Amino acid sequence: MLLRIALFFVVACLALLVIGAEDYYKLLGLKKDASEREIKKAYRTLSKKYHPDKNHGSDTAAQKFVEVASAYEVLSDKETRKIYDQYGHDGIQQHKQGGGGGSRQQNDPFDLFSRFFGGSGHFGHHGGERRGPNMEVRVAVPLRDFYNGRKTEFTIEKQAICSACEGTGSEDGHVETCDTCGGRGVRIQRQQLAPGLFQQVQMHCDACQGKGKTIKHPCPVCSGSRVIRESETHVLEIEKGMPKGVRITYENEADESPDYVAGDLVVHLAESEPALGQLEHERTDGTFFRRRGKDLFWREVLSLREAWMGDWTRNITHLDGHIVQLSRPRGSVVQPHAVEIVKDEGMPIWHQQLENNEGLQFGDLHVEYVVVLPDIMEKSMEKEFWSVWEKYRKKKGVQIDGHLGRPEGAIKMPTPDEEGHDEL
Ligand SMILES: [Zn+2]
Ligand SMILES: [Zn+2]
Repeated sequence: MLLRIALFFVVACLALLVIGAEDYYKLLGLKKDASEREIKKAYRTLSKKYHPDKNHGSDTAAQKFVEVASAYEVLSDKETRKIYDQYGHDGIQQHKQGGGGGSRQQNDPFDLFSRFFGGSGHFGHHGGERRGPNMEVRVAVPLRDFYNGRKTEFTIEKQAICSACEGTGSEDGHVETCDTCGGRGVRIQRQQLAPGLFQQVQMHCDACQGKGKTIKHPCPVCSGSRVIRESETHVLEIEKGMPKGVRITYENEADESPDYVAGDLVVHLAESEPALGQLEHERTDGTFFRRRGKDLFWREVLSLREAWMGDWTRNITHLDGHIVQLSRPRGSVVQPHAVEIVKDEGMPIWHQQLENNEGLQFGDLHVEYVVVLPDIMEKSMEKEFWSVWEKYRKKKGVQIDGHLGRPEGAIKMPTPDEEGHDEL
């Protein structure tokens, strides 16, 4: 009976293995011709997503975490990738059993994780794992990207764990404990202060520069420093209506070190100075909209005739290229600095979870009218206008300052003596 139960268990496990043997490329979300870089990137993203520290108690996530590590190990090695491409999972299985290559056995998935993100392969939210500092960068994008939403990329330079030596600093992988200090990085020395009076002083170990470890053959890529400078490109997804100054966090993408878990890379999304773009679609009038929260502001210039007499039309090309038409019929007056509010022509209102932008709402567009008066006129035109003005001024002209009740002359102020006293 016991044997049967054990057998059943083994079969169940095998079944699980077979079901679990998902295509490695599919698992990493890659095409067959994926580059080394893409494989790395996919591993970085997925290993963080499925890390058990972030998926408390989820067996499926834990299994995915292991599978993603296996997929990476196979596809990141030229030899095993070739075998996998030709013979699939079975080929890899045979390769392992035959000890082919031999150098790369199945690694601990946490070990692999730590080669990418430092520390001991955990996220450092618990267990006192050291975390590196966060890295803050400012990325400025034009207003139209905030309006339309856009997927773009940015590149930063950062410290990365040397992949040639997997963060050991050693060419052959051998790292020895320092003989001089026994791996502590410090030595205790007795100093004589006076006859019979000693003091114990902690000294930095010279033999290993305080690292506690020595390397005979330093890695040629990082010269033994275990880290390199590397530029990394990240995808930046600007969602419609995101506020400027919004912080976008890329977990564990700050400077890496084998000594700590990498901190987060935090992007501050700023608005770049308005400027006409080079491409046709970037040359919209909206380039010069100003934004305040969900509203947009625009200044439209009218001539005296237009402001006074009406009968005009303006087409403003909005940030996504659509036209907002402003107009007045004949006889409609626009006062200088009057503000017209055009409903729903402002910024999209940012919702973090909006499927396909369904139900997207917009702020308003505030149009301020500026009126410019002509300062040069043709002589005949000036004459005609003058006579028209004279005619109507004589008929029922109004003295504006008198109308406002203003005094006609200067007013004499009382001297202090005449002023009297306030009753307190
Ligand atoms: Zn030492
Ligand atoms: Zn190295």
